[in-house]
Amino acid sequence: MPSELRRAPRRVVAGFGLAMRSYSHYLEPRSTEELARIFGRAAEEGLHIALRGTGNSYGDAAIAHRELVVDTAGMNRVLSFDREQGVIDIEPGVTIRDLWTQVLPHGFWPAVVPGTMKPTLAGVAAMNVHGKNNYKVGPIGDHVLDFDLLTPAGQTLRCSRTENRELFHAAISGFGMLGAFTRMKLRLKHVESGFLRVETIRTRDLAESFAIFEERCPEPDYLVGWLDGVVGGRSAGRGVLHAASYLPASEDPLGAARSLQIEAQELPSRILGVPKSLLWMGMRPFLNNLGVRCINAAKYQASRLHRNGHRYLQSHVGFAFLLDYVPEWRRAYGLGGLIQYQPFVPRAEAPRVFGELIALARKRGMPPYLLVLKRHRPDDFLLTHAVDGYSLAMDLRVTAANREALWKLGHDMSEIVLAAGGRFYFAKDALLAPHHVRRAWGDERWNAFLALKRTHDPRGVLRTDLARRLLGEELWGS
Ligand SMILES: Cc1cc2nc3c(=O)[nH]c(=O)nc-3n(C[C@H](O)[C@H](O)[C@H](O)COP(=O)(O)OP(=O)(O)OC[C@H]3O[C@@H](n4cnc5c(N)ncnc54)[C@H](O)[C@@H]3O)c2cc1C
Repeated sequence: MPSELRRAPRRVVAGFGLAMRSYSHYLEPRSTEELARIFGRAAEEGLHIALRGTGNSYGDAAIAHRELVVDTAGMNRVLSFDREQGVIDIEPGVTIRDLWTQVLPHGFWPAVVPGTMKPTLAGVAAMNVHGKNNYKVGPIGDHVLDFDLLTPAGQTLRCSRTENRELFHAAISGFGMLGAFTRMKLRLKHVESGFLRVETIRTRDLAESFAIFEERCPEPDYLVGWLDGVVGGRSAGRGVLHAASYLPASEDPLGAARSLQIEAQELPSRILGVPKSLLWMGMRPFLNNLGVRCINAAKYQASRLHRNGHRYLQSHVGFAFLLDYVPEWRRAYGLGGLIQYQPFVPRAEAPRVFGELIALARKRGMPPYLLVLKRHRPDDFLLTHAVDGYSLAMDLRVTAANREALWKLGHDMSEIVLAAGGRFYFAKDALLAPHHVRRAWGDERWNAFLALKRTHDPRGVLRTDLARRLLGEELWGS
């Protein structure tokens, strides 16, 4: 059949922020054999593939306009789970939710989780995600023992720290460009209780937010800061930080046997009496500069109800997946959606750089509606985003009227980040240009990555819209 894949059904496929979309053929293979066949056919038919998990990358990392999106979320069996060693062998479409529900009752938790439980393990490995504990345990890649990678050239390669070492360190962080993960083995974190002990710390401005991070790290197991990106003047960068640590079984008021059960973890189905599924509609009228100013002020004032240093117990799920409390919250941003921009900046420069970025976004009338501050440490992965420093995730609203100005803002912010030796994150990107990534990772790393791409995907089959934007000129001349 000359054009089998081109007859596959088509649909609109979006990045999580809904600001970047593609109209693509869509296939959902259920086995490695089926996936291998699709790779072979795509090469013959001259069709390019975007691998996709559950589409939680904010921008264009898992879409491919007029091409083929191959969704591996349906390959989702747990192959084995060693409850003694805390090691699990899984297929690529197993989600973070599948993982914690399977392992927590046995006293384990994924060592690294993003702020939502919806992503697949293939998606989080491709982006090498970090958690609120990055400064302490590194990214997810540090907890992967080995994986099988199906390359577009048709080979399945076992990769680990001793076998196909270079590919191991490049496919993790390689944003789905070098092959498809078809199996992965992970080491889990042993936990004694289903609870964390959490402490909240209110900060008056950006300088104090950084001072607390510096003072506290690396003592708690997790540390994260919510900052107010709308308020200016002396209060710019004020916020509420959360420090959390694993609870020993001896301090668990429910008893570990109960707190480790799934029922003790689930998020509430209603908030203030409103079904969770409707909450985003109530948020919608507030997602403008004035509305967010009011919400942020209320949130900050509410933190004053407790004395600074207030401590309480919270489930792992409640602490880790705050953004899952309000399903479909992204829809509150309206038709244009949102983008997220997350620069990573070395420690010494981060306070100045993040201060400048927030001020610039405010000055241009596009303040970030959500700001999240995290501490990071370097790791061994080829296109790692982490540096010995900090990241600031900025949620920016996109409208038909501001789109051009927002992309210009992104360009100007990236210049500031690069001048300070910073990097970016492909899972959160919509704004970067090719020269930004070369400068961010340097010629040596970037050329090594392109060389691996040419070796394992000589026909350029794996080509998302993100790849076309950032690698297109150099690899394919377009
Ligand atoms: C609310 C929210 C909070 C988040 N919080 C964090 C956070 O705290 N920390 C963080 O690091 N990230 C965070 N993220 C980003 C998210 O973790 C990543 O974008 C992750 O990659 C999403 O996984 P996914 O399964 O949805 O993959 P997708 O977004 O569908 O794809 C991600 C990448 O994986 C590739 N891919 C998919 N399947 C395969 C496969 N089988 N083999 C090889 N490559 C494949 C795709 O081509 C793409 O490049 C957050 C995202 C959201 C929406």
